[in-house]
Amino acid sequence: MNSEDISITNKLLSTAKKIVVVGHKNPDGDAVGSCLGLCNFLKQNGHQVQVVMPNDFPDFLKWIPEASSIINYEQNFEETKAAIQQAEIIFTLDFNALNRTGGLAIELEQATADFILIDHHQQPDNYAVVTYSDVGMCSTSEMVFHFMEALDGVELLNKEIATQLYVGIMTDTGSFRFPATTATTHRVIANLIEAGANNSTIHQNVYDTNSPDRLKLLGAALNNMVMLPEFRTAYITISQNELNENNFKKGDTEGFVNYALSMSGVIFAIIFIENKKEDIIKISLRSKGDFSVNEFSRNHYNGGGHTNAAGGRSLKSLTDTTEEFISILLRYKKELNES
Ligand code: 5GP
Ligand code: MN
Repeated sequence: MNSEDISITNKLLSTAKKIVVVGHKNPDGDAVGSCLGLCNFLKQNGHQVQVVMPNDFPDFLKWIPEASSIINYEQNFEETKAAIQQAEIIFTLDFNALNRTGGLAIELEQATADFILIDHHQQPDNYAVVTYSDVGMCSTSEMVFHFMEALDGVELLNKEIATQLYVGIMTDTGSFRFPATTATTHRVIANLIEAGANNSTIHQNVYDTNSPDRLKLLGAALNNMVMLPEFRTAYITISQNELNENNFKKGDTEGFVNYALSMSGVIFAIIFIENKKEDIIKISLRSKGDFSVNEFSRNHYNGGGHTNAAGGRSLKSLTDTTEEFISILLRYKKELNES
């Protein structure tokens, strides 16, 4: 954070305020962890704070301290709307554009509050009085730690904040293995463990929660995997029928795309998941090295994210989407083989 942003933030927070902290649609571990950690910190500073999400988050994140205090727009429409209207400050965390909050964007656009953005995605929109954006950061949760440092508040770090931020950093770094994981990330993690985060228990709580249904769905997904060695690419499809047959629950497909990327020689992996309710194909893209799935998704799937991890959607059928994907790939053959 630069000194001007620190002083604007300090001024805004110098008296007790009504604050809302918002994460993105389909909240992941980093969205939930960073929002809850920041909320806890702000509460300790005497503010009245409510964490708000556009919709529900997966069960494997429900155990996180204070997670039950989160309200979501889909299930608590009036309460969420009122909190946003009454807020004097709104922190938006782990996303770069208000449309990443789905239907909640309309409420946010009408809010009278001052916005503070904390995020590590590329190309942030310009809607906040303070834009703390750092695309080199592994996670928004690490940025919340640096935010506390910038505000001279690290002594407020407690076991709950440490646990919340640990979840966000662990999940967004693929357990500390993605390239954005730095020596500083590990120093932050050391601080969190010293403050009471139990690394082994947290890992088990998040990752050792498979249901037989989820593993069967993974089996179906891997069965559908297609290798395209000439493009150093692999893709996976999951139909709505396959989701139904395996009693799909929110979060069940999280991480599936990484199996495709884990194959030797693959630098670009993509998963297409049919969603009949929303009438879209949800797309997750991952890459290794310089090949930017952020650009790929922006150009073809109305999405975005980071260089090596992005999301998007298609309005075509599952078959048409995969056929189109292969035709798009032809244009990237050289780039994929050189990166
Ligand atoms: P996932 O594939 O796990 O849904 O998303 C991968 C990364 O891309 C995450 O950091 C997520 O926040 C971001 N992302 C997912 N969908 C979109 C999208 O539609 N637009 C943008 N800008 N980012 C996205
Ligand atoms: Mn994140």
